[in-house]
Amino acid sequence: MEIVRTVKDLRAKTRQWRNENQSISFVPTMGALHKGHISLVHNAKSIADKVVVSIFINPTQFNEKNDFSCYPKEEKKDIEMLEKAGANLVFIPTADEMYPKGFSSSVTVSGVSDCLCGGSRAGHFEGVATVVTKLLLQVLPDVAVFGEKDYQQLQVIKRLVQDLDVPVKIVGSPTMREKDGLAMSSRNARLNEKQRHAATNIYAVLNSIAIDASNGLDIEKACEHGKKALIDSGFSYVDYLEIRDAETLEIRKKTIDKQARIFCAAQIGSVRLIDNIAVSF
Ligand code: AMP
Repeated sequence: MEIVRTVKDLRAKTRQWRNENQSISFVPTMGALHKGHISLVHNAKSIADKVVVSIFINPTQFNEKNDFSCYPKEEKKDIEMLEKAGANLVFIPTADEMYPKGFSSSVTVSGVSDCLCGGSRAGHFEGVATVVTKLLLQVLPDVAVFGEKDYQQLQVIKRLVQDLDVPVKIVGSPTMREKDGLAMSSRNARLNEKQRHAATNIYAVLNSIAIDASNGLDIEKACEHGKKALIDSGFSYVDYLEIRDAETLEIRKKTIDKQARIFCAAQIGSVRLIDNIAVSF
């Protein structure tokens, strides 16, 4: 596995592979890798000849300075995990490499970016869309793999690739969970024992709403009960707990007539956790 830190070195390697007719899949990450990220690498490996993984904590997608500065950095461990998972190339650029002096462009995806995390994290999806567009143009992969854990992000990226004619297939990969159901996340390491225990309630609440919704019960009432259950279990704040269309992310309040998902973001201590699951009928 090779490690490169500049766009020039990255392009030299991917150009060579393209000239050899080797297909390339790409997994963008912010590092502090866990089994969820590694499942994306395995998925990427199964669909292309070569796998490129990027590690870049993108400053422009953090709307809180503290969240950015607290974001875990574990480069050595990440590299070991990626080597073991069979990645072929790791791209670890600096912020200056990604945003050199004078950088002044951005990518805005309206509609799917506006609700859920876009409503409460100003500028977050603009930061995500801009960095992912750059990374896709730098790597020029055949396929890029993103986790359903960040389902809204996945829809934003599908939209931008379609709108901007970026020649890449976007593949969603299922959320990996701890044994008790908590979605794996680099942020889970910041939970103390009590908070970690309470955090499992997000998945429990999502499942209970999914059952109620598929049984035709009142969606709004089910979500209100869910919010209360989270607050009672120790969450300080529920940012959203909503059922939305799985593609357009339009809100579903009364009935579900198409593929839908339940989305939750909630704060426990200083940690904001997000999760989502599909509603099936
Ligand atoms: P991040 O490093 O948090 O930016 O995540 C990098 C990629 O890993 C994104 O596509 C995430 O959706 C995905 N990811 C994060 N956590 C999980 C998980 N628990 N299961 C599957 N994919 C995940």
